[in-house]
Amino acid sequence: MTPEEILAGDREHVWHPYAPLPPAVPPYVVRSARGVRLCLADGRELVDGMSSWWAAIHGYRHPVLDAAVVDQLGRMSHVMFGGLTHEPAVRLAGTLVELAPPGLERVFLCDSGSVAVEVAVKMCLQYQRATGRPQRHRLGTWRGGYHGDTFHPMSVCDPEGGMHHLWADVLPRQVFAPAPPGGFDGPVDPAYEAALVDAVERHAHELAAVIVEPVVQGAGGMRFHHPHYLRVLREVTRAHGILLVFDEIATGFGRTGTMFAAEHAGIAPDVLCVGKALTGGYLSLAAALCTAEIARGISADGVLAHGPTFMGNPLACAVANASIGLLRAGDWATEVSRVERALRTGLAPLRGAVGVRDVRVLGAIGVVQLDHEVDLPAATAAAVAEGVWLRPFRDLVYTMPPYLTDDADLVRITAGIAAAVAAG
Ligand code: PLP
Repeated sequence: MTPEEILAGDREHVWHPYAPLPPAVPPYVVRSARGVRLCLADGRELVDGMSSWWAAIHGYRHPVLDAAVVDQLGRMSHVMFGGLTHEPAVRLAGTLVELAPPGLERVFLCDSGSVAVEVAVKMCLQYQRATGRPQRHRLGTWRGGYHGDTFHPMSVCDPEGGMHHLWADVLPRQVFAPAPPGGFDGPVDPAYEAALVDAVERHAHELAAVIVEPVVQGAGGMRFHHPHYLRVLREVTRAHGILLVFDEIATGFGRTGTMFAAEHAGIAPDVLCVGKALTGGYLSLAAALCTAEIARGISADGVLAHGPTFMGNPLACAVANASIGLLRAGDWATEVSRVERALRTGLAPLRGAVGVRDVRVLGAIGVVQLDHEVDLPAATAAAVAEGVWLRPFRDLVYTMPPYLTDDADLVRITAGIAAAVAAG
């Protein structure tokens, strides 16, 4: 198809994320992607500052990941997981247990981050019911979060600033504490800590679980918080028999400088959700990991009531094994600190610039927060003119590039951010 035919078909038939149909602004047509570059149909090449929404941590067409898919394709692309099992899934589950914070020993493989959160919620509700506490059916969280687009995840997203206000009337009513104060390091706020504990304790009798994104609240506002508040949550939930769920769908696999963000706090949740970078961004796969105790409780009472058609998809598991293998074989932590240093240097001049409220960097994440809503088409076009792909939202222009982005391309990305800020 010509680029014009693609755009005409797109306009006629295709929904895009959070868009009307036809979309208000036509999308850019991508022909291919290799390394850290997206190749547009008009011949332009863009350095990808987004890792395809946090996922493509090794870039595109990585020979090891390509080979893993091709090799698995030669055996089987998919088989049902009911009554059948296979090596790619079993190997992946074992590896996830090895890598995850201690105590997370049982793995449910599913197809997307939102579904992993749904499964995590079911694990918690079923465990509380199976252990004689059916009145514990609500979820607690703090404001400013984002956990996905299906109904339970939406119910624990930020109820005000978030994307799901449309559904406020029909979502399950959950318990919200204030958002954690901003800042990954520096002093902690005892008044906030007390408010957090109080919010959990007041609702302890009805809470099945508390779910949060550790260290980085992503699509809810790209905010970082001090790991201390996670330790506070760990203590108060344990004291009251409430399960703690960490949603590491965005932060997992090295993005914040540790394999999982929970490591910054030195604690383990009862349930962990992973997705996005799990397959290096190649295929849709996610997982919810839980403790042996949760699995025992549920199984003593019956079954975990979930079973997607594409559960444990062998192609996705094979490429996830290869992606994790690449991380383990390479020096990803050094790469992520190199990216962090480059983003700090490249974004520093924007601190104090007109219209900029804050500049923050953690691991391979760089964020510029404006004092106004971004003009999305203008900001995107300005970055594209600099040869960079970005997808700003709300008042945020940000990047989370593939870890292997070299220094010259990181300079391009920060120049692209500066151009987007100036235009948007
Ligand atoms: N949880 C977090 C923290 C996320 O960032 C996302 C997606 O951005 C999700 C859940 C939902 O994942 P998915 O888009 O794969 O359903």
